Formats: sequence, C-alpha cells, structure tokens
Amino acid sequence: MTIFRSRQEFEQEEVRGLACFASLSIDAMERVFEESPHAYRTAFQRDRDRVIHARAFRRLEYKTQVFVHHEGDHYRNRLTHTLEGAQIARTLARALRLNEDLAEAVTLAHDLGHTPFGHAGERVLAGLMEPHGGFDHNRQSVRVVDWIERRHPDYRGLNLAGDTRAGMLKHGADWDHPVPLPPAMPQLPLEAQVADLADEVAYMNHDLDDGLREGVLALEQLQSLTLWREASDRISGRMRSAKPAVHRQQTISALIDGLVTDAIEASASRLETAAPTTSEAARRCDRRLVAFSESRRIAKLELKRFLLENFYHHPRVRRMTQQAESIVGDLFRVYRETPALLPENASGRLEEEGPERAIADHIACMTDRYAQAEHQKLLDPHAAI
Ligand code: MG
Repeated sequence: MTIFRSRQEFEQEEVRGLACFASLSIDAMERVFEESPHAYRTAFQRDRDRVIHARAFRRLEYKTQVFVHHEGDHYRNRLTHTLEGAQIARTLARALRLNEDLAEAVTLAHDLGHTPFGHAGERVLAGLMEPHGGFDHNRQSVRVVDWIERRHPDYRGLNLAGDTRAGMLKHGADWDHPVPLPPAMPQLPLEAQVADLADEVAYMNHDLDDGLREGVLALEQLQSLTLWREASDRISGRMRSAKPAVHRQQTISALIDGLVTDAIEASASRLETAAPTTSEAARRCDRRLVAFSESRRIAKLELKRFLLENFYHHPRVRRMTQQAESIVGDLFRVYRETPALLPENASGRLEEEGPERAIADHIACMTDRYAQAEHQKLLDPHAAI
C-alpha cells in the first residue's frame, strides 16, 4: 500500500463501501466540456471544490437569510445556512451509504442563485421577469454554475459533472438554458434528495434560533409545536440550572438530531422496501426515497406553518421585506430605462442575453449591501455623485 491515495483508490472505496443505489464517481455523468480526470480527487470532490472557489459562493456571506446583514453579527446569512445544510447532508449521506461528496457539492451549490434580500428579492424579480422567460432562485443557481461564473479560457461556468447539475434541478428544467441540461427523470438523484431534506432541516432550525434570539418569537409560543415540545422534553432533565440561551441551543440541537435520525431511519426503510439496484433505478421510482416518516412530516408542516405565520410575517421582518422589495424593483426599472447605468460587465451582456435577462442576472448576483449602496447611488437625490 502506498501512502498516496489516488483517485482510482477513492473510486474503488466507493464501489466497495457505498450502497448499490448510491451515485458512484466512477460512473459520473459527463461534464459539458470533456476534461481529464484528476490525479487524487473524484469527479464529485472536484465539483465541491469548484463550488467553494466560485465568486458566487463568497457572495453568499452578504446575502440575507431572513435578517438583513447589518442587523446583528450572529444571525444566519446564506453562507452559514449553506454550511449548516452541507453538514447535515454529509451526515445523512454517510449514514445511508450514499455519496457524501455529491450530497455536499449539491448542497453547497443549491443557493448560489439567490437574489439579495432572500425570498423578498426573488419575488420581485420573478414578477418583473414573468413576460421575459421567468426567474426563480433554483434555476438561477444552475445558471450561475453553467454560465455566469467565468474562470476558464475554454468554457463558461464551472463545468460540473452531470450528476451535480441534475441534483440542482429541483423543480425540473422547463426553460431556456444556454448549455444542454442533463436528461429529466421522475426523481432527483438520492444524494440531491438528501441535499433538499438537509436544506429544510437547516433553515427550519436556524430560523427558530434566530427568531428566538431576536425576540421575534417567544419560548412560550413554541410549546404548542410537537417538534419543539418533544425536543425540549428530551433535554429538560439536564437543563435545570442552565441559562435560557443554553437551553435554547440544546433544544435546537435535539430538534435537529431528532429530525435527522428520523430521516435516516425512515429513508432506510423506504430504500429497503423499494430496493433499487442502481442510482438510476432510484431516480425512476414514483416517490422520493429520502424522506421523513409520516408523523415527522406532519410535525414538520406544523413547524413550517408556525414560522410562516409568526416569523416570516412578523411586522419587524415584514418591514425589512418591504424595503427589500422596493430596492430590487427600483434597481430593475432604473437599469431598464437607462441601461448605460449598468456596470461594464453587465452592459456587455445586454445584446447577448437581452436587456431584461442581463439586468436580472446582474441584480441576482448582488449582495444585500451592494444592492443597498447601488440603490442609494442611483436613486437618492442627496447621495454624493
Ligand atoms: Mg437553502
């Protein structure tokens, strides 16, 4: 045995150690532009690394999850959300003998196309782009990795493997795309199902945490929620003299652990029943095989409804949302009326993409703080010229 572990060894370890329904890097779907394989990284490890080194990945730090970036230093932003999601995805993938690197790559890339100011920004762009081919963050993430990132002399985008790109197509691909997309199948690859579930576990829990920390949510309200009550009961014996912040964190921890454990057990039993013999067979199933149990699914819906009513629609959050919507809408209109105001990298794409798409791409790439500064520069009559 040599000290150096080659790609071929990693690939063989996958063949030996992963389930028959896992996506193997040795069978990875092609990249759009052919490349020679790496000496010691598998196809999916390489994709994960490309995503982490992308400019769009770095911008996630200054994009809102729920609270705008300057509200406080401890709130989640899209980068920390992505990292928390990726960690949960790795745990799930590893436990289910799926390809951890692919699950990680998909999770790290899943929000790259998010607009500034979270879903508020997305809603506005989606409305404005409706007559021009539409907009949603999921599709925009694929556009970022396939087209917007520029880092190679021979091609645009990151040239990711087909499995990673297929895993990002959460809502299908019924739209124009500049690069051929992987063929549509009834289900996402299992590793992408893991990524989707991990994303949900991450945001439900950190939104609860941020909402409590901010005082937008109160502990007493949460007692009505099955998941919270159960998690809180599980830890209460150890928490008698703990500070409220520690109690909150331990409850969130128990809640995540409970959901992840349930997802592993319920998915394992679904996989056992459906018994797909290849990753492709799992994609042809009529339902997702990575999922919560029925009772947890219902409890999860209760929590999501609670967050919608009490957190996302809370007056404090709404005020931010309203402001964000006007910023994104104003920027779009000003650029559309006077395209000469666009910076050079965006104005260069006006002809190639059509003005609306070029403007939507430009705005979608912005961080919250860039959008705020640009709005002030362009629309505030008192701003310095
Ligand atoms: Mg997400």
